Formats: sequence, structure tokens, C-alpha cells
Amino acid sequence: MDYVDLHVHSNASDGSLSPRDLVAEAKNRSMRAIALTDHDTTEGLDEALAAGAALGLEIIPGIEISADHKPGSMHILGLFIDHRHNGLDEQLKILKRARAERNPLIIAKLQKFGLAITMEEVTEVAGGGQVGRPHIARVLVDKGYVASFQEAFDRFLGNHAPAYVNKFRFSPQKAIAMITAAGGVAALAHPFTLEYTSFGHLKTILQQLRDWGLTAIEVFYPEHSREKQQSYKNLAGELGLLMTGGSDYHGIIKPEVKIGLVGPGQHVAYELVEKLKEKVGQVQLQTLNLSM
Ligand SMILES: [Zn+2]
Ligand SMILES: [Zn+2]
Repeated sequence: MDYVDLHVHSNASDGSLSPRDLVAEAKNRSMRAIALTDHDTTEGLDEALAAGAALGLEIIPGIEISADHKPGSMHILGLFIDHRHNGLDEQLKILKRARAERNPLIIAKLQKFGLAITMEEVTEVAGGGQVGRPHIARVLVDKGYVASFQEAFDRFLGNHAPAYVNKFRFSPQKAIAMITAAGGVAALAHPFTLEYTSFGHLKTILQQLRDWGLTAIEVFYPEHSREKQQSYKNLAGELGLLMTGGSDYHGIIKPEVKIGLVGPGQHVAYELVEKLKEKVGQVQLQTLNLSM
């Protein structure tokens, strides 16, 4: 069968595998295509594309951008992006700078609570990739300050915990525009994290996002029950949105998640990629017409 995984992370963001090893793992799991969608960075894509060409696995250049939303969190996936697009690169540099400024602030707060932790230790754990809260949590676990990742987030790092530092995010409109300008299609990742109050509420949010250029919604995802998948599928149909699906694989950071699996024994069909590709062609034509 032709299966795909349109949402995986490498160590260019917070996954544990290098892009090359990630591609090899996907090949072992008999995938036909994967989309590498690292958080706020395209730095793993060249390596992934090269590995995909060598191993005969289709690599869809992607990204996952965190957008400003309350009360939950909104992640927008960009698929089929031109990852060398200058405009996109400029915007991602803004995020990179914001992140570089944020980590030392979190560490300073932890030090105030008497935890002996340094930026150097955190950078080392990240192994050259993007540095973020999961790496800080890892150091806290390694040093015995907390027993688990979960405890690190509950007691110190989580959004309502005392060492939390606000994160700079683009507006959803901006995130979608960045993806579209780079020739990609934008999809709302794991809709449940929006913490919407009802399906009616979600529908209102989706209509707004669609008006800003959203093309698809991530229907298939390990934390979506079959019932939820059906509801999202119906919403996509009603709103004229396409469907995507992926595991949100992060390697050893989330060991229960496997590449290609979006539910017990459930895979995502390649057919979704074909529909997305048709859309990509249309979006690129529109962008071309606008720029002429
Ligand atoms: Zn996400
Ligand atoms: Zn993700």
C-alpha cells in the first residue's frame, strides 16, 4: 500500500533523529512519502531531500509554524514550500532571534528557583539543533531536579508554570501568508489543541483561516479518536478544505509515536498527497498572476 506521513520532526527542531536517519526510518516503515515539518525552521530539509533521493522516498518540504492563538495553541503546517524562498527565510530569522533571546530568560528564572542549570548544558543536549523547552526539561531530568518531562513542564516550564516566558508568535494570518508566498499550502495541525468550545466555534475559526488562505486541516492524527476524525472530515467537506494526516513523530521524545501511524493500525493514504498537489499547482498559479 502507498502510505504517507505528512507531519514529522527531525533534530533540526525538537525531534531526536537527524533528517537522514528520519528518512531511513520512514523507508523502513514502508512509507511512500513524508513531509518534514520542523517547528519554525527549514534547516533540515536539504539533508532530508538528499537522503530521500538516495533512498527512493518522496520528501515533501514542509514546516510547522506556531501562530498566536488563545486559549490553546495553533500550529499551521506548510506543505510543498520552496524552502529557499527569501521572504520565508527572513521571517524565520525573526523567530530564530526571538527564540535565542527567550531561552536564557527561562534559564535565569530557573536559577532564581535555585536550580543549577546553564545555557551551555541545554545547548549541548540539543546537539546543534534548535534549542527549546524540551531540551531544558531534559537537563532538569538528567540533573535529578524532576523525575520526568511531564514534571518539568508541570512544575517549571509549562504555559502556566513559574519559569514560563512568553513566546513571540506570528498571527495566524501572517503564518498562512508566509507559507503561501513560499508556494506552499497551509494546513491547520491537530485542531483539538485550539481548545475550541464547540464544533460550531471551531467552524468559525476555520472559516476565518480559510479566508486568509488555509487550504487543509489535519484530520488524521494519533490523538484524534475515530469519532473526532469523522467530525473533522465532515467539517473539511463542509468548508471545502482538503485533509492531511501525520504522526507528529519526534523520535525518543515521544516514544509511543511511530512514523506513519495515526491510530492503532491506521495509516494515511497517498491519495491525500495527490489532492494536495493539485491545489499546490493552483496556488502557485494564483501567486504568479498576483506578482505579474
Ligand atoms: Zn504541533
Ligand atoms: Zn508537530
